[in-house]
Amino acid sequence: MTTLKDLKPTKKQNVEEITDELGLKMTNKYDWCFSNESGTYLIFEWHDDMLEKEGEIYFLDQASDWAEKNRSTALTVQINRAYAVASVILQAYYTKAPLNVAIIEGVRRVVGLRETSEAHLRELDSQKWYPHHRDENGHIVVIRGKPQAEGFDAYAVDQRRAKLTGSPPPPPPSKTVELTRTAIYERDPQVVRDVKRRAASGCCEFCGKLGFPTPQGTYYLEAHHVIPLNLGGSDAVKNVIAICADDHRRAHFGADRHELRDEMIWKVLHKLYPDDTEYFEDLDVKSIEITKSEKAPGKLEDVRMDS
Ligand SMILES: [Zn+2]
Ligand SMILES: [Zn+2]
Repeated sequence: MTTLKDLKPTKKQNVEEITDELGLKMTNKYDWCFSNESGTYLIFEWHDDMLEKEGEIYFLDQASDWAEKNRSTALTVQINRAYAVASVILQAYYTKAPLNVAIIEGVRRVVGLRETSEAHLRELDSQKWYPHHRDENGHIVVIRGKPQAEGFDAYAVDQRRAKLTGSPPPPPPSKTVELTRTAIYERDPQVVRDVKRRAASGCCEFCGKLGFPTPQGTYYLEAHHVIPLNLGGSDAVKNVIAICADDHRRAHFGADRHELRDEMIWKVLHKLYPDDTEYFEDLDVKSIEITKSEKAPGKLEDVRMDS
């Protein structure tokens, strides 16, 4: 029988290696924000944080607690990462999806007020893990190799609990098909719906950062037409990118907006649709025309992405 000791990582796999193996899109490796629309979830978990009892190996989801506790001292990226992990676990809990867990070992220490960490070893566990139930403190218990009981409806249980305690209701579980943690507020519902599904992790498709959390439990991103509609761009998913509010402003008003446009075409969209090179070559021609003709930066279109 596997013991907790057997799960100590013995090699250092790259984050890319692990995401490739699972068919997940690599976002920003510092966000640890990995999930996709077909319900593949990946999180990284410290071996030190895992427990063993009566033959079961498990850990508790304490990511949101950690974020609350360290809100004033941690880096924004650390806070975002913690919420991203909590959100992935919650979605898997509600949808009964298995979690892929990459186990890490390394050094964690407090420097000044801030906790820093460095992973020395990292290895994807071949066994799936399952958010199984909540313990008496409300933490989700994630157990190795043990799916939820049949008929257990975690979401309904949480809803009842929220009603009893008067706390806000849990964010609804996403159905596998529509699984997205992205909130985009925009006009053309179909294109936006498709882009939201593509950016299901809630991470900016340009920089990989998680959008900020909305009250609905999703992450805020904006839809940006890489080639604006009034300059010959089409209202199609291949011309639209889901990005964070910062990048969106930069794409319109930044000194490097033309370079950004090229990167969005070739480093993001073309990679998503590698068979459509011709389409992107056409965008590229339009992009060059814009660079040549444009004197003043363009207006920001009204494109908040919302749920
Ligand atoms: Zn961004
Ligand atoms: Zn825009």
